[in-house]
Amino acid sequence: MNITITKEEIYATPNDMELGRLVRNKFWQEERNQRGWVQNHYDDEHVGLVIDDDGFVTSILRNDEYEVCIMCGDSVPYLKSTHIDRRVGYIEGAGQLCKDCYEKGV
Ligand SMILES: [Zn+2]
Repeated sequence: MNITITKEEIYATPNDMELGRLVRNKFWQEERNQRGWVQNHYDDEHVGLVIDDDGFVTSILRNDEYEVCIMCGDSVPYLKSTHIDRRVGYIEGAGQLCKDCYEKGV
């Protein structure tokens, strides 16, 4: 596989970091073009981390799901793995509320 970086692109990138990013993006673009698909493993992957009280990661959750409001059923922008200390609208013993329901109740 050959990736072409033009003189203009080198001039247009402010530093080696950006140039490296450009090369890597071109590589993956070419890889996709050639194979039609690329294993997710190599792409950016979003995972949920379960972190214990000491700050250690105890497990990694893939295909993590978003919480749902216990009052209205709307989805809430927190993953199930998000620690309750880092959420707004979580009622201990009850569950997660969406912003609207939480503000109505406060
Ligand atoms: Zn709600």
